[in-house]
Amino acid sequence: MSNNNILIFTDLDGSLLNHNNFDFKEIKGFILNCISKGIKIIPNTSKTHTEINIFFDQLGQRLPFVCENGAAIHNLNLLHPVIKSEESSLIFSRSLNEILEVFKKNIPIEFQKKCIFVRDMSPKDQMDVLGLNDKYLPHALNREYSMPLIFEGCIDTVIEFRTLLKKIGMKLHEGGRVLNICDNCSKGKAMKTLIKMLNDNFNLKTYTIVVGDSPNDISMLNDCDQPCVIPLPGNRNLTELKDHKIIRATKIAPEGWEEVVRTSLKKINFNLEG
Ligand SMILES: [Mg+2]
Repeated sequence: MSNNNILIFTDLDGSLLNHNNFDFKEIKGFILNCISKGIKIIPNTSKTHTEINIFFDQLGQRLPFVCENGAAIHNLNLLHPVIKSEESSLIFSRSLNEILEVFKKNIPIEFQKKCIFVRDMSPKDQMDVLGLNDKYLPHALNREYSMPLIFEGCIDTVIEFRTLLKKIGMKLHEGGRVLNICDNCSKGKAMKTLIKMLNDNFNLKTYTIVVGDSPNDISMLNDCDQPCVIPLPGNRNLTELKDHKIIRATKIAPEGWEEVVRTSLKKINFNLEG
């Protein structure tokens, strides 16, 4: 397999970045080594465009990426030299204002009352809920396509709420810290669209590795060549996934990320050292 055909779609928070402090310095050299060997690493995250740019600043490298749970793909020109920079984005979602309008008009008020939107919380509560300090908070709130929230209701009510959203063409995604109301997008859908585009336009036969830790990663974990799961500290996660192919890290992020990527590459006899 050509190195250029290996794609790693990776969640960030809790998968590549440490769940508590969002650090990844222990594996920065490894990530850059993978990129230098031609492996395409594509963050696929609920984070916003501006939050992902901060990650790229820390990495010292720009990458193609999917933001806000599959709402948009950016930097496609970094994936293939033929793609022009003015054609480097694909948007799959309605705007946040449109989503909010449909939500307010169609979701029964008793369910709306159970939604504590992060944007309406005090800055202190926002920082507590998202685990961010005041430096990073504004970037997490700068959302174009999704509304993070805490839902005050039992599991049955959440299931009912999810069904109501589905009826109006929206999705409720569950990340490591909060729920998110989004348009009818998912990380998996965005990933599949991107792979199809590469196959159709450039005849690229890709090998896809996915790394995730939370329910909002299942759509991409279920549809790839090599699914990898990173454990959350003190929490058994994604135990419902039974695929025998899954590689489960023994360590949490960031070290767990390097562990599963090394194992995945070894399985296909890809030599990182040469
Ligand atoms: Mg995560």
